[in-house]
Amino acid sequence: MKVELEADKCVASGQCVLAAMDVFDQDDDGIAILLEEKPGPELLDDVKEAIAVCAARPVRPAAALQAAAVQRVGARPAGPAHHV
Ligand code: SF4
Repeated sequence: MKVELEADKCVASGQCVLAAMDVFDQDDDGIAILLEEKPGPELLDDVKEAIAVCAARPVRPAAALQAAAVQRVGARPAGPAHHV
C-alpha cells in the first residue's frame, strides 16, 4: 500500500496521527506529514482508520484501494517530524 498526502487539504486536526502514529506526524503548524510512504501490511488497519477519521475528507478509500492501492489524506509528505 502506498500513502499520499495533500497538504493543501489538511486542516491540522491531528486525527491521523492518533490513528496511525507510525505513519503520520504533524509539523509545528499542525499540518500532517508522512513518515512512511509505503506502510507495511501490519499498519493497514491504522492507515484505514486514519483515512476514515481525517477531518479534511480528501480521501477516496474504496476507489483508491481498487485502482492503485493509493491512499490520499490531506497532508504533505515532507518536513520535520514532531509528535504532538
Ligand atoms: S491529514 Fe487529515 S486527520 Fe491528519 S491532520 Fe490533516 S486533516 Fe487532520
